[in-house]
Amino acid sequence: MRDQKEIHYCNLPKMPEPAFDSPVGPMRMEAIIIMAKKWVNGTKLKYSFFERDSFFTPVTDASGNQSKLFWKGTNDEKEAVRNAFATWKSHEIGLEFEETDDHLEALIRIGFAKGEGSWSYVGRDAWDIPKEERTMNFGWDIVSDEDTILHEIGHAMGFPHEHQNPKAGIVWDEEAVYSALAAAPNFWSREQTFHNIIRKISPDDVQGSSWDPNSIMHYPFGANMIIAPPKYKDGLSPEDGLSNRDISWVKQFYPKIDKRTFVALKPFHSEIISINAGNQINLEFSPEESRYYTIRTFGNMDTVMVLSEVVNDENIYLSGDDDSGEDRNSVIKEKLLKGKKYVINIRLYYKTSAGDTCVMAY
Ligand SMILES: [Zn+2]
Repeated sequence: MRDQKEIHYCNLPKMPEPAFDSPVGPMRMEAIIIMAKKWVNGTKLKYSFFERDSFFTPVTDASGNQSKLFWKGTNDEKEAVRNAFATWKSHEIGLEFEETDDHLEALIRIGFAKGEGSWSYVGRDAWDIPKEERTMNFGWDIVSDEDTILHEIGHAMGFPHEHQNPKAGIVWDEEAVYSALAAAPNFWSREQTFHNIIRKISPDDVQGSSWDPNSIMHYPFGANMIIAPPKYKDGLSPEDGLSNRDISWVKQFYPKIDKRTFVALKPFHSEIISINAGNQINLEFSPEESRYYTIRTFGNMDTVMVLSEVVNDENIYLSGDDDSGEDRNSVIKEKLLKGKKYVINIRLYYKTSAGDTCVMAY
């Protein structure tokens, strides 16, 4: 069981809430929010570590003394992170992880600045972070703390905090929570505690219909922080490692990809998209001439569409579009070359009416 005492908590960076141009009904909103931060399945998430002393956070203490919190980690720390990526991948998911020593090509950029807390951006939010900045940090020694690493990687894959699941039905002793987190080792402001614990995630931001107190995305809590359910008055300690539901959810969002199911897309030929919300269609496209192509979805639906070039069996991202919550369709325009092979992934968030939906390249 994860220890409740002297527990360090993960402190998520704040991102703006999604805004919608036009009124979006609750069912459609729910579908969009569940999927919004998830990656298109099959994405290779490259990760990197910061190695040089030129990467650090400058700190000034109360007396005006300046120091540096270096982002680089030890070999043992880096190995612990590699092992945690391998643990997620061992469940045969469609996402791929690969280490790169070039942080400019990494989507997940990992620092080990001690004292800055452990945190990660959630899923696709990492796209918007400048390449010279971290998207994940480990603020304490995680060499024998695999659960913290699995938790932060869970955020990087797009999973939110489970203890903020409104379906959890947790009633907090809010003042006890604020004062526990204000003390060592976290020293959180009330705002940080509210953002990471008390605040209920919108009902639709969490996956699933039930609460999983053993989820890797759930914090442990000490005694007298939870008023109800009463069984957790003495504290709540999630079991070590990934829970059964963590595994079933990651496999639902990121099932193993079978390239034999890929559909060949032909120019000017519409391909019907017959998948359920949350699922993904994968298409291959081999242009017969080199020119600009427009790839567009048709029909009333919300999708995220990603175009990649296949190089040495690896999908290299070229372009993406996300039309969720908008009255338009996903569209990508790119120059594509004869002799090259491309893959188009379309994840369906929501279908707003029953008519046909399809995709075409022209
Ligand atoms: Zn967290």
